[in-house]
Amino acid sequence: MAIKPLVARIQQYNPNCDVSFLHRAYDFALEAHHNQKRISGEDFIVHPLEVARILAELELDLQSVVGGLLHDTVEDARIDLGVIREEFGDEVALLVDGVTKLRRLAYRSKEEQQAENLRKMFLAMAKDVRVILIKLADRLHNLRTIQYHSVPKQREIAQETLEIFAPLAHRLGIYRIKWELEDIAFRYREPEKYYELAQRLSSTRGAREGYIRNVIDLLQEKLAAMGIGADIQGRPKHLYSIYQKMVAQNKDLNEIFDILGIRLLVDSVKDCYATLGVIHTLWKPVPGRFKDFIAVPKSNMYQSLHTSVIGPEGEILEIQIRTWDMHRTAEYGIAAHWRYKSGAKDDPAYDEKLAWLRQILEWQHELRDAREFMETLKIDLFADSVYVFTPMGDVLELPAGAVPLDFAYRIHTDLGHRCVGARVNGKLVPLNYQLKTGDIVDIIKAKQPSPSRDWLNLVKTSQAKAKIRQWFKREQREENINRGREALEREARKQGLDMEHLRGEKMLELGKRYTLHTIEDVYAAVALGVVAAGALVARLKEQVRAEHPEEETAEVVVEQKRWSKNAKGIRVLGIDNLLVRLAHCCNPVPGDAIVGYITRGRGVSVHREDCRNITLWREREQERLVKVAWDQQFDASFQIRLEVSGMDRAGLLRDVMNVLSEMKISASWVTARGNKSKMATIDLTIEIRNLEQLEYLQQKLRKVRDIFEVRRVV
Ligand code: MN
Repeated sequence: MAIKPLVARIQQYNPNCDVSFLHRAYDFALEAHHNQKRISGEDFIVHPLEVARILAELELDLQSVVGGLLHDTVEDARIDLGVIREEFGDEVALLVDGVTKLRRLAYRSKEEQQAENLRKMFLAMAKDVRVILIKLADRLHNLRTIQYHSVPKQREIAQETLEIFAPLAHRLGIYRIKWELEDIAFRYREPEKYYELAQRLSSTRGAREGYIRNVIDLLQEKLAAMGIGADIQGRPKHLYSIYQKMVAQNKDLNEIFDILGIRLLVDSVKDCYATLGVIHTLWKPVPGRFKDFIAVPKSNMYQSLHTSVIGPEGEILEIQIRTWDMHRTAEYGIAAHWRYKSGAKDDPAYDEKLAWLRQILEWQHELRDAREFMETLKIDLFADSVYVFTPMGDVLELPAGAVPLDFAYRIHTDLGHRCVGARVNGKLVPLNYQLKTGDIVDIIKAKQPSPSRDWLNLVKTSQAKAKIRQWFKREQREENINRGREALEREARKQGLDMEHLRGEKMLELGKRYTLHTIEDVYAAVALGVVAAGALVARLKEQVRAEHPEEETAEVVVEQKRWSKNAKGIRVLGIDNLLVRLAHCCNPVPGDAIVGYITRGRGVSVHREDCRNITLWREREQERLVKVAWDQQFDASFQIRLEVSGMDRAGLLRDVMNVLSEMKISASWVTARGNKSKMATIDLTIEIRNLEQLEYLQQKLRKVRDIFEVRRVV
């Protein structure tokens, strides 16, 4: 019977396993697939049996192996999942369901179908990582038998393997499977390049092997003298990684210097560093190639010391040093946690190590579009990592190419929104600076959040992208609310309605007639043109008048009596025909809260309420202060000064001036200066109509890339 070798293999590492459970699963699969054949012409059962064998090679628990035996029964043999659950329990059913493709027929495109299936797989994987282990074993066996497919189908399978499954195996640290997936997929995706490379490597193999043997002998002798027991292996590089290097560095095979690889396995961490010491005394290390993944493990748990040295005859040797334990993790990765003996759920670090998976799931909700999902998934799986530090010394892992914004968003959404710049290792850097391993990153934060749409092209992580998009969705609503409110206020002013009513009970009642349930919904609806501001205010006015016929007219009369009119657009309470001027110490603009000061002989000077002089006079000359107000009908412009600071870069001043010209604001004075720490300061004296316009301008300036702060100068 074909299951015997499988049972024997499992019993090697799990001697007390429930053999009858295995037999039942095998019989069930045999029955379910009994009249099915593979494309190769073999009985179908060969496939689930091989998948189970690969899982047993990883020494996984019984549930996983049984899951492997049954993995195609629902998808290909139309067995009901309920039956699996009844016969083999919830755990196995969850695993089988996780690897079963969705059978919905209404996909718009092949891409969408693929994305939906992957999405389902990721969700199942979050519940139980063994789902992906079974899927990888499935893919591996399908690749091993790929020759029976048509050439286009071969290319398609190979492509998907290189884009999704090999990077996934890499992310999960299961290098043993990753290598084989890559080399087979490479052979079918780029056959010419594969065979050319294979041929060239094999022609020099003899020489390389001889060289490596000599190096190993020498090392063995030196280490023994130090009392270090080490297992030293020549490390065969797999073809795809050599090919990737040639492409990435645009080099020929003989320029890729680390085809010569050696791996040393030792007993303890102490021996790892001692061994490194011996190697660096023997041969000169290549600068910049030493990496300590023992002190800072990769997120997929990988640990090792890496170094490159200039070995005998000037050849460059790439060396890895690790303990046996680390080696097991390197080979099996996340699968090591599901090995029969290890007791995965007790490991507190386990969860942390799957953090990237949680991130994928976090943003996968956001992505409705199949193409976008695939793109983001590919980026997240592929990216190599950089390890950077917070100012507190915490390590964050980010994909290579990540910028300070990615870092900020990883720490906190709000920090991302407020990020205006960063100091890396104490130096100011532009927002498109690519972080490097070892960088200490300190985010410069603005008071107000001000993400920009340009950021979407800048950030590398899907997490940051999703958060930025989210912001704009929300901001758009806020913008609409503001625009609607402003439109209503203008209308209320025109029709002489007290602003209070725009926020009151009456407005809420009126809104309900349009099925708008909050005041904010009403404002937004006005901005979107669903409800006309004029009509709304007219109705509101009618209702108010119906209830308080006397109130409105009385107010107008009182106003006319007590407030003076004045050519400067300022009305002074209780005093007529006074000379009025705007103070130059604080340059008030319409909308600012203002106070008048009766000067000696020069009329009233009008100041902002927060002007330092007003504070002073409040203490000493309270009696000279007088109430003043803006005349809302008045139309003029007012001079104010702004100080804009940011990262010095070419085009910064131009970007600032563009904002002004877009808003049709004229500047009467502009100076710009930079300093040694790459900070730029731009002083502007500009003509402003009112506070709303000023605030809007400030908002827009803050969104200019590399601007940190926009301050009104008093
Ligand atoms: Mn299968």
